[in-house]
Amino acid sequence: MPEFLSSSENKSAKNKESNKESNQAPVKPVDPYFNETNAAQDKVVSKFCQKLENSFGKYRWGQSNCEKMNWSYKRTSVKGDPLLWMTFGEFEPDRTKVETTLIMCGVHGDEITPIKFCYDVINYLKDVSKGKIVDKKTGVTADLEGKFVVVAPLVNPDSYFKGHPTRTNANGVDVNRNFPTEDFDRLALKRWEDRYRKDKRRFPGVKAGSEPETGFQVDLIDQYTPDKILSVHAPLTMLDYDGPASIHTGGLVGSKANELLIKMSEQAKGYRIKNYPFFPGSLGNYAGNERNIPTYTLELPTSDPSKVETYWNLFKSSVHSAVMQEVRGSSLFALESEEEEQDTKSN
Ligand SMILES: [Zn+2]
Repeated sequence: MPEFLSSSENKSAKNKESNKESNQAPVKPVDPYFNETNAAQDKVVSKFCQKLENSFGKYRWGQSNCEKMNWSYKRTSVKGDPLLWMTFGEFEPDRTKVETTLIMCGVHGDEITPIKFCYDVINYLKDVSKGKIVDKKTGVTADLEGKFVVVAPLVNPDSYFKGHPTRTNANGVDVNRNFPTEDFDRLALKRWEDRYRKDKRRFPGVKAGSEPETGFQVDLIDQYTPDKILSVHAPLTMLDYDGPASIHTGGLVGSKANELLIKMSEQAKGYRIKNYPFFPGSLGNYAGNERNIPTYTLELPTSDPSKVETYWNLFKSSVHSAVMQEVRGSSLFALESEEEEQDTKSN
């Protein structure tokens, strides 16, 4: 769990609270990880945005508007591009009060369509924020009250920006096999040798979490403790799920997560749900299996850049549901954290 205030800071914050005049407006909480970059002033972001804009031109996707966006970043890729994310909705330090959804794209840079997909997600969330999205059936305007959304549209820029984009990062590591899962040391290299016959495209790295692009995803999970994760890939044409699975094995979260899985498929013309296995060092293993965070992997049908509009139209409603439908709530995990709290108190 991230600590937003140290205990001493916490005390002084409370003292300030009690000294405050009662007619003062409450101060809006600020995301401690938000770091507004002014693209014009930030050369690293500016350089990145120029490359992104060029790629959008190359694939005939129109303008990315990358330079006008409020990005945050802490880390850079192996080659020095910023690992950017953006947030929507209001930050709430008490993470249990908001439904947080983490959406990531471009983990494998040769999967071209997901990258544009995340920019479509960003534009869509902007429209929701401005009250521009109205449910045609009910006439209700969608809003992000009680919701927080984190979008990282290009997790692996080095591989995407290559002349011939690759799956692996600049160090030749598959950053979706490099997560520090419990089985990494025992199985990651072994599986790579046995099952993949040392396929270079799936090299997990020698050490768990060695790659900045993997560390970036771990950071986002640690910082924002998402209630669910959507990671977009291509071209396996399926919706895969890892995490608490049903009311029987995963409590209420499992049941709600499963409902959402079915809804997302139904809203995309019955898109195929497939239970794909997770691997040593994969996100599904790290977040879904080990941390019980419902983790959805959307595999778009192809990496054909001319298909991006078709895919966005197909999955727009599913993404809307992924953001709006709450999976958190009283569950096994709420119980667990209560127990943890009591443990700390008794210590
Ligand atoms: Zn992929």
